[in-house]
Formats: sequence, C-alpha cells, structure tokens
Amino acid sequence: MSLAPGADGVLVDRYGRVARDLRVSLTDKCNLRCTYCMPAEGLPWLAGPELLTDEEIVRLVRVAVERLGVTEVRFTGGEPLIRPGLVDIVTAVAALDPRPRVSLTTNGIGLDRLAPALRTAGLDRVNVSLDTLDPGRFTTLTRRPRLDAVLAGLAGAAAAGLSPVKINSVLMRGVNQDEAPALLRFALDHDYQLRIIEQMPLDAQHGWARETMVTAEEILASLRTAFDLSPDPAERGAAPAETWLVDGGPARVGVIASVTRPFCGDCDRTRLTADGQVRACLFATEESDLRAALRAGADDDELARRWRTAMWGKRAGHGIDDPTFLQPTRPMSAIGG
Ligand code: SAM
Ligand code: SF4
Repeated sequence: MSLAPGADGVLVDRYGRVARDLRVSLTDKCNLRCTYCMPAEGLPWLAGPELLTDEEIVRLVRVAVERLGVTEVRFTGGEPLIRPGLVDIVTAVAALDPRPRVSLTTNGIGLDRLAPALRTAGLDRVNVSLDTLDPGRFTTLTRRPRLDAVLAGLAGAAAAGLSPVKINSVLMRGVNQDEAPALLRFALDHDYQLRIIEQMPLDAQHGWARETMVTAEEILASLRTAFDLSPDPAERGAAPAETWLVDGGPARVGVIASVTRPFCGDCDRTRLTADGQVRACLFATEESDLRAALRAGADDDELARRWRTAMWGKRAGHGIDDPTFLQPTRPMSAIGG
C-alpha cells in the first residue's frame, strides 16, 4: 500500500477502502422537525452565499464522477425536495459520462407532485423516511401533521416508476418502538422495501444515549413476533443494511445497525455538504473546504487532488463505542444523512 494518496485515480483511503458512493446534501433546511434530528425551533441555517450554487454542485459531482471513480450519487439534506434547482441538478448529473446511478433520500413531502419530473430528469431511485403509520405519533415525532403527505409521496414515487421504493425507519423507545411489524406489513402490502435504522448520535440537541437506543437485536426480535426471518443469501457488499428474507422470501427487510454492528470496514461513502465541505464519514470531525478552493479559481485537477487527500485521511471506524468518542459538531441535517 502506498503512503500517500495518488496524484490521480479513485478515492482510496489508507486502509484500502475505495469510495464510489457520493452523498450530496442540497440544503440543511427542512420542513419537518424529527426529534432525533433537530430541535423544534430548527437550527441556524446556512446563509445563502455559503450554499453551493446549482452550477457549483454539478461541477463538483462531475469531478467526482469523471475523475474520482464515483458511480453512485445520492441527494439528501436537510430536505432535498425543497431545493428549487433539484430537477435541474438531477438532469445535469444523470447526463454525466459515465452516467452515475442517481438517487434521493427524502421525507416524501411533495414527492407525489415532483416524482414524474424527477423520473424524467433521470432519477433512478428514492428512499423515503417514515417512522410511524399512526398520525398522532407522526405529529409527535416530526412535530408536523404531515403523515398523509408522506404516504402520498410514497405512492407517487411508485407510480412514477422510481423503484424499488425504499422506506427508512428509525425506532425510538417509548415513541414508536413497537411499530416494526406494522411498518413491515405496510411495506410488504405496497411493495416497498423497509429498512430500519438504529438511531445514531447525530441529533443537534445531543440527546442520544446508548442505553436508550433501540438495538438491531431488539428490532429483529420485534419483527420475529409477526414474521419468519431467515438470512438473505445475496451478497451484502458495501450495503449498510443487513437483509433478511421475510417468510421465506422473495420479500426482504433490512436492518442498518450502524451502532451495534458497525460496517465501517466496508464503507464506500464520501460526502459533500451543502456548503461545499468534503467529509470522509458521517462522524468525521475534519472537513475539507472545496467551496473555498472552487471559488478561488481551482481547476478540476486541483479539486480532485483535494478530494483525494481528504478521503485518504478517513478513519478506520466511527468509534461510537470508544470512551473518547466525540459527536460531530455538525448535526445529521447539516451533513446529509
Ligand atoms: N430529510 C430527508 C429524510 O428525512 O429522509 C433526508 C435527510 S435525513 C437527515 C436522512 C436520513 O437520516 C433519514 O432517513 C432520517 O431518518 C435519518 N436520521 C436522521 N437523524 C438520525 C439519527 N440521529 N439516527 C439515525 N438516523 C437518522
Ligand atoms: Fe428533516 Fe430528514 Fe431531519 Fe426529519 S430526518 S428533520 S425529515 S432532515
């Protein structure tokens, strides 16, 4: 293994992992206030000039795809559907050569209206976040009464052909911890793919506690009260979800055990925040400022070099279980989940 990042080529780190999956946050703002993500009053949002413009985003994604071997581009936030230029950004990214796979992680509000245009623009897939099917709980959890809008968004995505439609759910003790079987039944009935995610220490309020989070073991035990789960013979690769066949298959359910069964050794992610910072990991404490370089006139070679250097320094693991673990100062909504 070499002792420094190469002058050209892919985004490799000193442990030999290669990042091919780019997460791009399009905004830190959101129209929900999920309790595990943001405080009720929201956050001090990035100021307009701090945000990358649509053209700057497309340029950096182009550098990643053309020069750094990125093959997957996922737009997220904050809530990416509230970015006015989203459809144009997707159009430009889907037109890159080689064409990356293009996907979106969203809370689903407004997706019923936008899904056809996004599909036409070249969007391949969506993940919609939905933690509960109970309207009262939804309002408690997200602090907004928008369950119907999310359900309409899911249906709109499926109707537009953005398949497979995946649902991401986070379970919280004392709130929706008992809902795993109902969420899976709902997903099976509608041909959506459910993935349940362990809650991570990424909330702006720093309210996460290892002792109270719902673990993958508990999630699986809860699902098994209603379904037979057997190990999925399919290759997992760099996918964060461990998948299980439901009642013998072919339907599957995924569990993303970021905390209790970390998959950092297989991680293939690189992240770009809405203000143009490269992060090697959700839990990184360092960032590399591509916006400043870009606005100072850096050419594509220089941007690619800086991106490689940033990824070379990626740590071996997130270290949530280490006594010295420090939660990143940026919350999930400002990194891009
Ligand atoms: N607003 C969009 C959404 O909710 O899908 C995209 C951004 S959101 C930060 C991306 C994903 O991160 C969502 O599925 C959300 O449930 C998840 N998330 C947010 N905070 C989390 C936390 N503390 N632990 C685990 N997942 C979290
Ligand atoms: Fe918004 Fe997504 Fe955070 Fe919920 S998880 S507050 S929808 S950014």
